[in-house]
Amino acid sequence: MLLWSYWQTVCTSTGPVPKKFKLSDETVERFRKANNEEEKLQAIENYANNLPIITRTYIAGRATYRYCFICNHLKPDRCHHCRICGVCVLKMDHHCPWVNNCISYTNYKYFILFLFYAFVFCSYIVITTLPYFLEIWKHSSSGHGSIHVLFLFIIAVMFFLSIMSIFSYHLYLIGYNRTTLEAFRAPVFENGRVDKNGFNLGLVNNFKQIFGNHCLLWPFPIFSSLGNGITFPRSREISDRKTLLDECDNSDEDTNDAFYV
Ligand SMILES: [Zn+2]
Ligand SMILES: [Zn+2]
Repeated sequence: MLLWSYWQTVCTSTGPVPKKFKLSDETVERFRKANNEEEKLQAIENYANNLPIITRTYIAGRATYRYCFICNHLKPDRCHHCRICGVCVLKMDHHCPWVNNCISYTNYKYFILFLFYAFVFCSYIVITTLPYFLEIWKHSSSGHGSIHVLFLFIIAVMFFLSIMSIFSYHLYLIGYNRTTLEAFRAPVFENGRVDKNGFNLGLVNNFKQIFGNHCLLWPFPIFSSLGNGITFPRSREISDRKTLLDECDNSDEDTNDAFYV
């Protein structure tokens, strides 16, 4: 399970930003030729009006659409440009050098499972080598194989502690429906309001958004996250939480499929 989760985390593509977010040549031209910040923002805003984007960024003191002029498109909600991958990544959490991939909407469940199974694996090694380690420690034994036991125990403890801290941090983030990036910089919404709990739907719904509605699939690194990675229900829509999650579950199935072909 550990290797399977790791493989899925490493090999899953971050998923493309849909073509409708791509800026037209005309808009890019208008943006480049704009004489001031106001004209630039106007060009972007005219184009973005019909797109399902509720997050903003502050430019020149005003909340406006987020855009990427490396990829030439408007950024969907929770999407960020990864400098290492060189593309915009849907619901980007962070770029992880350990898996040489971005942790994002498409592989976040795999990443959490990878941390969980790595945590279990390290715990197993620590517990099973502890009696041998204590024996060597007590008797100051330098017998055959003791160096291997010491090495194995110390490495397992180091990984156990580091994985435990990162795993518990991500459980905390899931509990509040935040990405690592959002924990450092809270998202800005349409009304210009900065709200670090803007996507928080409550503990159970937040976990379901990552792991899906079918609990039999939760332990397996098989894609079961809800939504499409582009639009996300807002916390203020509390009375409609369930409906919104269900809608997300059913909407844009083609888009979800496209990530995994
Ligand atoms: Zn980009
Ligand atoms: Zn990346």
